[in-house]
Amino acid sequence: MSCIFCEILKGNLGCHKLYEDESVLAFKDVNPKAPVHFLVIPKEHINSVEAILPENMDIISRIFNVINKLAKDLNLSNGFRIVNNCGEDGGQTVPHMHFHILGGRSMAWPPG
Ligand code: 5GP
Ligand code: ZN
Repeated sequence: MSCIFCEILKGNLGCHKLYEDESVLAFKDVNPKAPVHFLVIPKEHINSVEAILPENMDIISRIFNVINKLAKDLNLSNGFRIVNNCGEDGGQTVPHMHFHILGGRSMAWPPG
């Protein structure tokens, strides 16, 4: 199965990398919906939040640790939005779990 984020992780597709460690990658969204819009993904291919199990749930805290670090580095001190689209009704288009971080403007609620 080909996965566009796994292709980025393998280096076959470029990205604007913001952070990387042994288990997490963060990069700018190619189609930004806010002045700051980046994605944080596990290096392990996990389809969606629905596939988070006791065996792999440690990645969620690693991802949120990176979110906090980048929010500070990118001066999102006035706040930001974390979005996870899960499955078809959730609007997920890339089947590799990812968290969107949006900032640099105020966000509407509820989402459409
Ligand atoms: P989803 O709709 O699955 O929640 O979000 C997928 C996100 O991935 C979209 O915001 C889309 O702009 C972004 N995206 C899709 N393909 C690429 C790519 O090749 N590079 C980057 N940097 N972002 C991508
Ligand atoms: Zn993948």
